Amino acid sequence: MSTPLLSGTGIAKSYGPTPALRGVDIAVGEGEIVAVTGPSGCGKSTLLHCLAGILRADQGQVEYREQDLGLWSDSARSRLRRTEFGVLFQFGQLVPELTAAENVALPLLLAGSGRREAREAALTWLDRFDVADLADNRPGAMSGGQQQRCAVARALVTEPRVLFADEPTGALDQLAGEQVLDQIVRASREQNTAVVLVTHEARVAAYADREVVLRDGVVDLTGLGIGVDR
Ligand code: ADP
Repeated sequence: MSTPLLSGTGIAKSYGPTPALRGVDIAVGEGEIVAVTGPSGCGKSTLLHCLAGILRADQGQVEYREQDLGLWSDSARSRLRRTEFGVLFQFGQLVPELTAAENVALPLLLAGSGRREAREAALTWLDRFDVADLADNRPGAMSGGQQQRCAVARALVTEPRVLFADEPTGALDQLAGEQVLDQIVRASREQNTAVVLVTHEARVAAYADREVVLRDGVVDLTGLGIGVDR
């Protein structure tokens, strides 16, 4: 790989006395979908949070476009997450008081877009994910799968360079999960968006170009999927 878009080198992070990561190296190229897998508690979510600049690593470096994010202020990293990164969690965490269209428009409004422009973009993304007919529904009037498709639209509406997805299908049935993964992959291919996909499920990891297996806070080099391009 040439210079990666995003990399972590020697990432270590503890919560009090509990080490969650003990020196992890990972690199993600432009448009590449990398699954971070491993059993519950191995440090997957912590790694995603460090790479996305939500958590500061205790040791090691996170570099985005060859810049050390550890040297950035919290506000600069927040701005990066609003503009170049998209984040998607297991439960979409839509704002319950807002409609689907308002939820999807929100990142654009926060980034300074006008209301009309933001709504139009939101409707385009909802249409792309086959939930345009729900644009004026609040999350409470949508199924879990529909909510998650809106959450994917919200994570991608700013056309981020990296999407961080933490167990994005963990709360969905198999069909709804496959639809969400198909949409993530399609958007990644069309926009050349890199994806860091955290999952403990092999069938979810199978959507990725490459798999990094963690075990007890380190990369498991004995794992079957290590470094193997699909
Ligand atoms: P995974 O995503 O693979 O399930 P996590 O990154 O969530 O793993 O957790 C790694 C380790 O760190 C686990 O031992 C977990 O209990 C611990 N941990 C995670 N978050 C916290 C926290 N906020 N406070 C204390 N310990 C935590």
